[in-house]
Amino acid sequence: AGEVDLNFRLTAERGERYTLKISRPGADRKKADFERAIMEHLAKKELAGGQLPEEVRFRLAVPRPVGEVIQLEGSRLARLQTWVDGRPLGEVNPISSQLRFDWGEVAGMLTEALADFDHPHAPVSYKWNPSQTLEARPLARYFSPEQREIAAYFWERFERETLPALPTLPTSINFNDAHEQNLLVNEQGLFCGLIDFGDAMRTQTINELAIACAYAGMSVPDPLQAMSEVMKGFHWRRPGAAPDHLFNLITGRLLITVATAADNARKEPENPYLQVSAAPAWALLKKLRSVHPRLVTAIFRNALWSAEAEEENLAFRHWLEQASPHPVVALADRSVIALDLSVGSLDLGNHVNYEDSDRFTRRIARHLEDRGADFGVGGYGETRPVYTTDDFATEGNSGPRWRTVHLGLDVWGPVGTPIFAPFDATVHSLGIDPTQHGYGHVLILEHQEEGQTFFTLYGHLSADSLPGMRAGTPVQKGDEIARFGAPDENGGWPPHLHFQVMLDMLDYEGDFPGVAYPEEADVWLSLCPDPAPLLGRYRPGEPAAVFADYFDPPAAAKTGEELLRARQSSLGYSLSIAYRQPLHIVRGVRQFLLDTSGRRYLDTVNNVAHVGHEHPRVVEAIQRQAAVLNTNTRYLHDNLVRFAEDLTATLPPELSVVHFVNSGSEANELALRMCEAWSGTQNMLAVEVGYHGNTSRAIDVSSYKFDGKGGRGAPGRTRLLPLPDVFRGRHREAATAGKAYGAYAGRILADWAEAGEKAGGFIGESILSCGGQIVLPEGYLQEVYGHVRKAGGLCIADEVQVGVGRVGSHFWGFELQGVVPDIVTIGKPLGNGHPLGAVVCTPAVARAFANGMEYFNTFGGNPVSCAAGRAVLQVVREEGLQAHALDTGNYLKRLLRQVQAHHPIIGDVRGEGLFLGFELVHPAPAAAPNSSFLPATRQAAYLKNRMRELGFLLSTDGPDENVIKIKPPLCFHRGNADHLVEYLARVLQEDGCR
Ligand code: PMP
Repeated sequence: AGEVDLNFRLTAERGERYTLKISRPGADRKKADFERAIMEHLAKKELAGGQLPEEVRFRLAVPRPVGEVIQLEGSRLARLQTWVDGRPLGEVNPISSQLRFDWGEVAGMLTEALADFDHPHAPVSYKWNPSQTLEARPLARYFSPEQREIAAYFWERFERETLPALPTLPTSINFNDAHEQNLLVNEQGLFCGLIDFGDAMRTQTINELAIACAYAGMSVPDPLQAMSEVMKGFHWRRPGAAPDHLFNLITGRLLITVATAADNARKEPENPYLQVSAAPAWALLKKLRSVHPRLVTAIFRNALWSAEAEEENLAFRHWLEQASPHPVVALADRSVIALDLSVGSLDLGNHVNYEDSDRFTRRIARHLEDRGADFGVGGYGETRPVYTTDDFATEGNSGPRWRTVHLGLDVWGPVGTPIFAPFDATVHSLGIDPTQHGYGHVLILEHQEEGQTFFTLYGHLSADSLPGMRAGTPVQKGDEIARFGAPDENGGWPPHLHFQVMLDMLDYEGDFPGVAYPEEADVWLSLCPDPAPLLGRYRPGEPAAVFADYFDPPAAAKTGEELLRARQSSLGYSLSIAYRQPLHIVRGVRQFLLDTSGRRYLDTVNNVAHVGHEHPRVVEAIQRQAAVLNTNTRYLHDNLVRFAEDLTATLPPELSVVHFVNSGSEANELALRMCEAWSGTQNMLAVEVGYHGNTSRAIDVSSYKFDGKGGRGAPGRTRLLPLPDVFRGRHREAATAGKAYGAYAGRILADWAEAGEKAGGFIGESILSCGGQIVLPEGYLQEVYGHVRKAGGLCIADEVQVGVGRVGSHFWGFELQGVVPDIVTIGKPLGNGHPLGAVVCTPAVARAFANGMEYFNTFGGNPVSCAAGRAVLQVVREEGLQAHALDTGNYLKRLLRQVQAHHPIIGDVRGEGLFLGFELVHPAPAAAPNSSFLPATRQAAYLKNRMRELGFLLSTDGPDENVIKIKPPLCFHRGNADHLVEYLARVLQEDGCR
């Protein structure tokens, strides 16, 4: 039921479908003719859009009139149209950036297609026309006082700025209603149709875009970003749109929406539905009310690539090139170096260096001192990791985000360094809030020079810098205006000047944003041009030399695209990369990874960074030892022996002999050789979908590889036990599955015995990782080990994934099964990222292996690796990470089970400690034998990729790639679990998980 028409779907005998529209009484015949003409006009146009690649090309269908308009009784009109398939954009979840871009393109496409259309009966007045927003003004009497203030503000702006300009703006016949209910999307999530021509009219052409923007901005955390995306799509299709009145037309349309709703509420108070649409419009108006309109204009100009976007900035830069500022800091004749504080900066080093302000101060002071520099300069446009903690996170349209792009320039130097006014000025404002942004004392000057008005900001000043200064105080070029503050008075930062230029203060006083979100960086950097020329060497009458003359600026790093291309040409072709849009990670901090834009990702994948990415204790242990000695094990060294002692102390007493290696693969390779030395055969038992490494022998026992792509099946000497999966596998009775799955070992060994073959041993992961986080059923290893030992083989526990406290209840995964293996292989977590592995075995096995042939490993057991390993064990112990893994893991499992209760697609939640997984499935059709579930592989891939967009790294695994794995650094805590699950629950509701 529409406002004007009642709509019916008709299905004809042969299946063709139509829309029958019957108007409410009193419909206008001329308008019906007009609507018919516009549909006929569009039917002749090619409404195709989309960019490369092919997958995002789309084509819009529009209804075509069928037969004549029929006059019914009671002045109702009946018309028949062809049915257009698709579901409304409003039902699509989520509306991606790409879809918003396409939405803008649709608006551009309509503008283009209707440019040559005219009709004598085209309406020229309509209440939903943004240009007529002022007509809704009387309805403001139904608004609350707060709403009235917001509405009055926007209507006044409209009246003052846009109303007089309306006659000068180009007009055309517009569709005039490109919102979520009228745009249809197909199965692939691409636009496919357009319906409802009831709002079409002659109006200002730009309204087509304004209406799309008004709706795209609703119900998203950052409406301006969403509107920008729509504008970019519009611009791509139809360049040259003027952004100037867009904001007033967008808010104008929103005001019509809320005013109409208020009116309806009064007329039909019993119908709460009429209010539903008003809430998001009000929420959006309220948000827009808090943004400075000139900032909005800057954002819109940027999105529409309008020439004005850069004009002011360019004019200022050109003027500055020939101006002669007094240098803000006297750097001439002083030693100056570039200081890099970007996300991946090696100058900055470990995260502890910037998280603690004393340490930060010392770090920078030492860096300057080591290089014999008086000053360090840098930071304009730099992306910094400094504010990427939870406290600084805000919600963007794709998950949490941080203001990371630095808008000023920093000069690091001695406390008390004087600062000079670059030009004549008056004091604009002062800020003395040391707590708010870590800014300390702030001075802002206003300059008027040869037609240029601009502002300069000086932050982190000493408390006694500004006596007698207040807004309006005149300052002369070259006057000393302030001094560098000490950390106790400047907001806690090392002594430096934050120096920024603003072309527009946007009504700020005493402060100005010093950092911007990466997606808004273009706009903010354009408002805040590079202040470097103001640090120039000053000689009266000569143009300023750019401060870069003082030193070599850092070389530009390769972009992500360049890296990808270089990697593809010069690295092994079988090297894969995670995600369709690869990540360019440059820093690890505890349970997080940061990319070059400072975006922080919660890493739930990396069990190598066991105690946290770049844990300072481990980093320092490596750095200190690497600086002194790194040799092989043929000399005596304390680290080697102590590390071996530390490691065996965590294991059952039988496992007392250590061989150090450099990876999990090497560990398993060695363990397999031990089996052969012990038994005289290479015959091995392994588990389906198991993975043990990349060496030849390790591959030969890795079903994940030889049964996977490019594999050639199990070699003759390897026999596989079925995946002991109690959820979807052959045996699902928890109480008996361990014995049932273990019994396969007995059968294979009996086969071998019958054929006169010996058994080398069994290798198995203590929880199967590539197999899909399969927790071994109770009694499984006991059963398998029993058979293998009876047959004379050895039992290897592969702890490469799960060892070192991760499973929580125990230090080693095999302990969950109450067994003691003959050989334990350890890798990933042991060095926290430093390449380090170990094989620990019983003395009997070690003796059998030591048959005269030396085992020498150039790198294994070197003093640096051993220092790293010792530090890891120490941190696990001292930070109580095993108990923490148990607590956090159980907590997360509980949360996941709560989500499971609402999302039946989660078939199973399993795992131990912080080695968890959940499996996505569909109920199997009744006909499918022996299986109640089918894997939801596509949904798992969607979930993984979508979570990445939202800032969470997860991986998928299992034979059907339908298991989501969670195995984060052990410092992952309950707060992270809450956050992760909140977003998982959100994504599970999205279309991609259906
Ligand atoms: N064993 C298991 C269970 C593994 O998961 C892996 C690595 N994914 C390895 C061994 C091989 O370790 P690496 O990659 O360090 O050689």
